[in-house]
Amino acid sequence: MAHLEEQTPQPLASEKLLVDYAKSLDCIHCGLCLQTCPTFRSTGAESSSPRGRIHLMRAVGEGRLTLDAAYTEELDLCLVCRHCETVCPAGVRFGEMMSFARNRRESHSPRSFPARIARFVGLRVLLPNRIALRLMGTCLRFLQLTGLERIAVHFGRLGRGLSDLPRIPPLPARRLLPARIKASGEERGQVALLEGCVMPELYARVNRATARSLALLGFTSHLPSNFVCCGSLHAHNGDHAGARSAARKMIQALEELGDGTLSIVVNSAGCGAHMRSCAHLFDSEDPWHARARAFEKRVIDYSEFVDRELQDREVQLTAPALPRPIAWDDPCHLCHGQGIRSQPRSILARVQGLEQVQLSEPEACCGSAGTYSLTHPEESRAIFERKLEDLEASGARTLITANPGCQLQWESGIRRVGKDTAVMHLAELVQAALLEKKS
Ligand code: SF4
Ligand code: SF4
Repeated sequence: MAHLEEQTPQPLASEKLLVDYAKSLDCIHCGLCLQTCPTFRSTGAESSSPRGRIHLMRAVGEGRLTLDAAYTEELDLCLVCRHCETVCPAGVRFGEMMSFARNRRESHSPRSFPARIARFVGLRVLLPNRIALRLMGTCLRFLQLTGLERIAVHFGRLGRGLSDLPRIPPLPARRLLPARIKASGEERGQVALLEGCVMPELYARVNRATARSLALLGFTSHLPSNFVCCGSLHAHNGDHAGARSAARKMIQALEELGDGTLSIVVNSAGCGAHMRSCAHLFDSEDPWHARARAFEKRVIDYSEFVDRELQDREVQLTAPALPRPIAWDDPCHLCHGQGIRSQPRSILARVQGLEQVQLSEPEACCGSAGTYSLTHPEESRAIFERKLEDLEASGARTLITANPGCQLQWESGIRRVGKDTAVMHLAELVQAALLEKKS
């Protein structure tokens, strides 16, 4: 035993704090995750695989590697799609490891001054502030209308990413939802609804469809007005202080809404996955940890909520007019992040007359991944190419998803190659099917 201990590298006290060293030891190096990893599939490099990244984190934890540029690059290249978690027989919680490692990297190995400014503006100024987000949406719309967005491609990666954004709707189409949306007809219950930070600027129509479909199912929605962002993008990018601040505001706002026990329906898979695991941001002795744990249990994805209602009442839906056949694509943070796979499929199966085809790899990442399509536009496009080939092979004419980032990636990518495949959020389809049934 003593001999074994001598052979096992011990983490250095100062270094082990830089990564979640204990979690890195869970990996048994089996390699089952390699072919699920979009960056390994693109590069073929072990260092760009889940196993390789864990190896790098362990090397940092053991003091064999410093936080050099190569390490930072590999952390940034990961999409945190968590596909590796789904297939991992050892139960490695890669998403949490990556979030932790990115957070430590930020405090121990600062980025360049312009990169720090961009992060600060994006995460601390824009995301928590509705007025700043509205201003950004209006500026982007102006750039798109005047064609000036084409100049953005000359301003580095971020500019190229921005030029890929879908059309920003006019201001009236970006209006926020009211604080309360009453059930249509007899009320069956009440829920809290999350509007999101960027959603109202890009996909206010999805929020309207979400609230309307819930109303048609007999639910009154309550919307918290005193917080904007759940902090998922902060956590994803390793800004744990920003994520904690956002989580405190969100938890407090939703505790004060209604009787404080309403189910919180979320139509963004990325936000939902984060909200269901936000307690890990707080130390277990911190009173916010217990509040976050209680909060996590109230969060429910839109597809889970609607599927349960449709099943309980044995509701059949009627297919609305839309290009057919349709195909469902699983958002990573729905299937890998929340383990939700059957519910969206069960909803779609209830829509009579909806011709469906299957993607061959519906759980593969589309390359959107929070801010990844902005910070790594070339890599993101390369990953999306595979999805596009899959879509073309399926023959689908409408693609259904359930996450704004994926919707944005699909819409931009399809527009870029000049195809006319429609892209819809599941809530938009459910709303249209419920209205079809009524008429
Ligand atoms: S989270 Fe996704 S991109 Fe990152 S290592 Fe795992 S499979 Fe690869
Ligand atoms: S599947 Fe899990 S245990 Fe196997 S190499 Fe990947 S991370 Fe390690």
